[in-house]
Amino acid sequence: MNIVVTGGAGFIGSNFVYYMLKKHPADKIICFDKLTYAGNLETLEKALTKDNFKFIRGDIADRTQVYKMFETEKPDIIVNFAAESHVDRSIENPEIFLQTNVIGTSVLLDACRKYGIDRYHQVSTDEVYGDLPLDRPDLFFTETTPLHTSSPYSSSKAGADLLVQAYQRTYKIPVTISRCSNNYGPFHFPEKLIPLMIINALSDKKLPVYGDGLNVRDWLYVEDHCAAIDIILQKGKVGEVYNIGGHNERSNIDVVKTILKELGKGEENIEYVTDRKGHDRRYAIDPTKIREELGWEPTTKFEDGIKQTVKWYLDNRDWWMGIISGDYQTYYERMYDTR
Ligand code: NAD
Repeated sequence: MNIVVTGGAGFIGSNFVYYMLKKHPADKIICFDKLTYAGNLETLEKALTKDNFKFIRGDIADRTQVYKMFETEKPDIIVNFAAESHVDRSIENPEIFLQTNVIGTSVLLDACRKYGIDRYHQVSTDEVYGDLPLDRPDLFFTETTPLHTSSPYSSSKAGADLLVQAYQRTYKIPVTISRCSNNYGPFHFPEKLIPLMIINALSDKKLPVYGDGLNVRDWLYVEDHCAAIDIILQKGKVGEVYNIGGHNERSNIDVVKTILKELGKGEENIEYVTDRKGHDRRYAIDPTKIREELGWEPTTKFEDGIKQTVKWYLDNRDWWMGIISGDYQTYYERMYDTR
């Protein structure tokens, strides 16, 4: 089968590329990625040596490029990871989020209409459900929780999900959607909480924590997410949404302290900074449906996953050193003002 992974040069997409190359060596994996600031061809270095892997630089919102890719690659499956993914950047500049996340998704769906597809899978997020109060630990997002977004990022992802569902209903495109909680693991871009804290701690820099640090996220090791998508592609029912999460809720400040402990560092560099605008308080996924209907369960405990992740950043300094110089530095200084 020809499987096109859009956004495969980013964090989760690249982990998915490696997962699929290992798990399904008879399939051809084609990565279609615009290589924005978040995409990195070095991440795919090992995949590029394989005969059954191909990289195409392209923009999902560019109809000509997408149609050409469908004509040359004849995909059986599309897994759409391509997105602008950082909430803080969406607050600064929402437009590019609409362009890639909404228009880009509609172009991919139009290509599926025009050329046909066995399965279109949309990689979505639990952020489309909004947030939950901290004092109601009994509440979780299920697949029927109403969409109730807080940021331009989550709104653009919700818009994309609705389009995917509309194309299934209207044009009978065989689609599935997954909504996953926060991922962590190798190749995570340094602007996100876990890599940011590991990298800053290694350089003895300030560790900027938003607000009171008590916002809760539900963390999942990236390989568990990849395995869940693979199972949805194989066994998921067309038209269905599947929540993916591991009941692994941690406050941001707990995550930061765990990382410091892992690195043998003290907590003196933690600095509470002005909270993110509209900051969601708590995300928590109920993964009952995917567990009971498809038999998926996460296999990596947070304690082990965070150890592996810290070790990965220690062992792969060249990868993140290349990123944190240049443009990223300018962004970082603007966000945290810590020159
Ligand atoms: P990322 O920012 O690390 O990677 C995004 C990738 O998409 C990059 O390689 C980038 O170059 C590419 N891209 C961006 N715009 C593009 C365009 N117009 N055309 C083609 N490629 C383009 O993101 P990530 O964290 O790996 O997230 C991947 C997907 O998973 C996103 O759709 C995101 O909404 C979703 N998701 C992420 C998380 C998480 O914790 N990171 C959780 C749930 C869902």
